[in-house]
Amino acid sequence: MKPNQLDNLIRDIKSFLDKDVLNLESKVLLHGWNASFDDLEKKRNKVKSLGYWTPQIPKKYGGMGLSLSEFSQISSILGSSPIGLYLFNCQAPDAGNMEILIEYGSNYQKDKFLKPLLAGEIRSCFSMTEPGFAGSNPIYMGTTAKENNERYIINGKKWYTSSAEGSSFAIVMAITNPNSKNKYYRASQIIVPCSSKGFNLVRKIPVMGDEGEGYFSHSEINYENVDVPIKNLLGDEGHGFKIAQSRLGPGRIHHCMRWIGICERSFDMMCDRAAKRELSPGKFLGEKQLIQKMISERRVEINAAKLLIMDAANKIENLGSKKSKIDISMMKFYCANVLKRVIDDAIQVHGGLGMSDDIILSHFYRHERAARIYDGADEVHISSVAKGILLKYGLKI
Ligand SMILES: Cc1cc2nc3c(=O)[nH]c(=O)nc-3n(C[C@H](O)[C@H](O)[C@H](O)COP(=O)(O)OP(=O)(O)OC[C@H]3O[C@@H](n4cnc5c(N)ncnc54)[C@H](O)[C@@H]3O)c2cc1C
Repeated sequence: MKPNQLDNLIRDIKSFLDKDVLNLESKVLLHGWNASFDDLEKKRNKVKSLGYWTPQIPKKYGGMGLSLSEFSQISSILGSSPIGLYLFNCQAPDAGNMEILIEYGSNYQKDKFLKPLLAGEIRSCFSMTEPGFAGSNPIYMGTTAKENNERYIINGKKWYTSSAEGSSFAIVMAITNPNSKNKYYRASQIIVPCSSKGFNLVRKIPVMGDEGEGYFSHSEINYENVDVPIKNLLGDEGHGFKIAQSRLGPGRIHHCMRWIGICERSFDMMCDRAAKRELSPGKFLGEKQLIQKMISERRVEINAAKLLIMDAANKIENLGSKKSKIDISMMKFYCANVLKRVIDDAIQVHGGLGMSDDIILSHFYRHERAARIYDGADEVHISSVAKGILLKYGLKI
């Protein structure tokens, strides 16, 4: 796409968000996902009719065919609203599931699972983390899938399966090859319809006091003798970790750019409040140097975060995810912390109003604190950056 075409697209999507999405966002935040479902569907149809549907997906699969860098910029606009990416059908975890189904799915899987996902007729989830095992070590898990008569029998306990409520299928990581000498080739990814017998959604996990609904929820799931045909295996047996890795590079770019959308909106609210809140008649909050420090420092950090993301996206496009590992890790932990500081300062500047649910900042804080934990906790990325750098100096850790 030519730069001016992308600029026009960004401008049009921004204006669509302002005019068409913010009212619906208020309804969703106030009344919940289920009560707003029909309105969300109508709005998604409007997005389709405008030609903005699944911007990240290749044209031959019905998307807009944007490159990773182009989509990143769209994602930073859509990310400013909690429903932005969903309305355009490029929300996690569906976007990641679409990507791996396109890359590794069989014709049967593409027809049965990918097609309705791309059309926005269904939602899906990704079920990897378990309460009993450290999610930071992705090859360490207890869920098993045992083959029996061309079927897999799955048993295990997962949690934090985001958006499971209302999903049609889960992509489940389970150990299929416990005796593989290479520990990275023990688990597989298997597609499990959520209507399967033994798929037991135990509870939605309350996150900072909010258990959410539908797309906005995270579930604990017991897989009890769930029985699926072997044709639901995604990619090769034992390649679950490899597939998960391939989804994480671009996926982290998507998350970071979504966070930029949140940063920009929170920053804008912070500056607006600083400029308009009177501490005494004619004396404004923004005149205080400590407030100015927050504004300057957060602005620099948001700009720096954007540059890191664009740099990592360029490297992924040119060298692939594997060779861009350090850049992806630098971007991920830096952006997650910028996000945390921007939301926190925006709340601070709003005082009591910032803590209330009358404005969106408390929602951002509640739901985005997790940015420093999922897709690799800060500490894991920080270590991996240092290890990658030290390797160039001859120290292998
Ligand atoms: C809101 C939210 C949504 C999520 N959505 C999904 C989902 O859809 N699907 C899914 O499968 N999972 C999901 N997760 C789970 C997420 O991927 C895990 O929480 C994450 O991988 C960390 O695993 P853990 O919680 O087991 O923490 P642990 O692995 O037990 O780690 C705990 C802490 O230990 C520290 N730590 C870990 N490793 C190291 C290290 N090497 N060096 C130093 N310190 C370290 C970090 O501070 C880390 O936060 C979600 C989590 C959250 C909070």
